[in-house]
Amino acid sequence: MSYARVLCVGLIGVAGHLVEVEADLSSGLPAVVLTGLPDTALNEARDRVRAAMVNSGQEWPNRRITVNLLPAALPKHGSGYDLAIAAALLAGAGELPVTPLDGVALLGELGLDGAVRPIRGVLPMVAAAAQAGITRVIVPLDNAREATVVPGVTVRAVDSLRRLVDFVRGYDTLLDPRPAPPVPPYSGPDLADVAGQPTARYALEIAAAGGHHVALLGPPGAGKTMLAERLPSILPELDDDAALEVTALQSIAGVLPPDGRLIRRPPFQAPHHSASLAALVGGGTGLGRPGALSLAHRGVLFLDEAPEISRSTLQALRQPLESGRVLLSRARGTTEYPARAQLVIAANPCPCASPAGDQLCTCSPVARRRYLGKLSGPLLDRIDMKINFLPLTAVQLMSDSSPAEGSSVIAVRVARARAAAAERWVADGWRVNADVPGPRLRRPPWRLPVRDTGVLHTALDRGSLSARGVDRILRLAWTICDLDGRDRPGAEDVGEAYQLRMGDLLQLPAKSRT
Ligand SMILES: [Zn+2]
Repeated sequence: MSYARVLCVGLIGVAGHLVEVEADLSSGLPAVVLTGLPDTALNEARDRVRAAMVNSGQEWPNRRITVNLLPAALPKHGSGYDLAIAAALLAGAGELPVTPLDGVALLGELGLDGAVRPIRGVLPMVAAAAQAGITRVIVPLDNAREATVVPGVTVRAVDSLRRLVDFVRGYDTLLDPRPAPPVPPYSGPDLADVAGQPTARYALEIAAAGGHHVALLGPPGAGKTMLAERLPSILPELDDDAALEVTALQSIAGVLPPDGRLIRRPPFQAPHHSASLAALVGGGTGLGRPGALSLAHRGVLFLDEAPEISRSTLQALRQPLESGRVLLSRARGTTEYPARAQLVIAANPCPCASPAGDQLCTCSPVARRRYLGKLSGPLLDRIDMKINFLPLTAVQLMSDSSPAEGSSVIAVRVARARAAAAERWVADGWRVNADVPGPRLRRPPWRLPVRDTGVLHTALDRGSLSARGVDRILRLAWTICDLDGRDRPGAEDVGEAYQLRMGDLLQLPAKSRT
């Protein structure tokens, strides 16, 4: 037999596609031809596979070899096809029976010494194989844990080509995935560490409960970054679907922790303000990798010192934030990554960034306006709440002797509020109040009586509030009422939401918790 076919999986963005690797060996001048839209890394598979085979004690067939990857129209990239190519070659050369590999997808990169090396994106690849009806996969040992996350698939692992060859010859040489280490308790930063700033803490709780975007404005050292970093600590764990999406994205980006466990905590991404467009939104060579925006999917994207980010980068964030996905267009095709993240931006009120706040500011009014104005078009529009931080004086710091409330306590309230909102919107498929389209809140049965929304009418008439702003305030009002455990927002909730939206809320409302 001089022909063999083995299964593998290719990846475009987060979408996997079953790929058939065919090998045909014919008489003629010895040569290797690789067809089916391979990229450079894949083209080099010829040399890797040859060295790996020879160093594993196999004979390299000195014939005319054609390796074809089907479907031919699908662009293929990376080194994950090595193992399948080697198996197809050996089977095609008559060195191996091919039956043991029937219906098995093979994934893995080969080292020159014949070792099987880990690859990126194994989780979404195995998920795609399962969707295509494949129930058995053989993957690199270092990726085996993450592959077991996919239900309904038997995962076996290899650490060398020799091990695969011995298995095909009938020996029981395949390895089992390493057992999962016990899940450690949450050990990230906790809100108990943040002193003072009761209003900002309250706003963060609202943001967590309703999925609202928030801007933190204030002098350096007031605790903006500390607070933002602690938003994930009060968010609920990811459900099964969200956890799979997040884990798959980290697998593709190559940042999945080695224990390969399903990620249950909402991710937190804080790209530096000088980060490149590719690092932020996604890109790079070939078909492009996910950026911070996609790695924050189902979690938090924190943009510190947001006015320092270049205008073009801010502009590029705009569309993905709206649609919840990133499209990377390349000569070789378009890649799509999900990007539904909760946005937290932090900014100093002015370029001089005086730690004492406005009192010692040396900036001209024009400079101050221009500084934050840079954010207004693309980003500030999408922000539901603006929180102005007051400089934390030494007196406040020293006198604050009562311990601050910890994240686990607040997380319980957040979870309760989220459950109330989820129950209200379950028929429409929305999870949090931030998902609800504005018109829905302005029509029965969810329309609030005029006596409760008077403040909005006045602001609309005065021109200090846009129609879009009204919708954002209504969503906030619902979240405030959910946190309070009531059925419907009243005038007080709407008033508080209005202040949060306009950045006017400087003191905790009297009714709020201690
Ligand atoms: Zn200033």
